[in-house]
Amino acid sequence: MWAYRLNIPSHWRLLSERYRLAGGYCENCGHKMFPKQKICPKCGSEKIKPVELPRRGKVITYTIVQTPPRGFEYYTPYILAIIELEDGTRVFGQLTDIEPSEIQEGMEVEMTIRKVRVSGESGAIAYAYKFRPLE
Ligand SMILES: [Zn+2]
Repeated sequence: MWAYRLNIPSHWRLLSERYRLAGGYCENCGHKMFPKQKICPKCGSEKIKPVELPRRGKVITYTIVQTPPRGFEYYTPYILAIIELEDGTRVFGQLTDIEPSEIQEGMEVEMTIRKVRVSGESGAIAYAYKFRPLE
């Protein structure tokens, strides 16, 4: 869902500073979406271009997950939120570096990339975007 793999085995902290959310932009109606889709959910156009979305936004609403999917138990409880980015695009993601009791709707956050799990014998490492409070 919100986790996806990046083909970069190291330097992920550096990556975090440079990476942007890769969304889609509808050339027909101007709607921005994340993740990128083949058909615009607003107007049905297929003229979708890749676009970099802003890293910063604010928390619109959130939920605290007490029963995570397999492989994410270590992070229990974790917080999922809908973030409205600076350009108005809404994205769904996990909050990090914050206690559930500290979250407030409207608080400002920025995207970061975090290692989320190391799976089995392959040793594969997955990364995910998350949002952390602005300092
Ligand atoms: Zn559209």
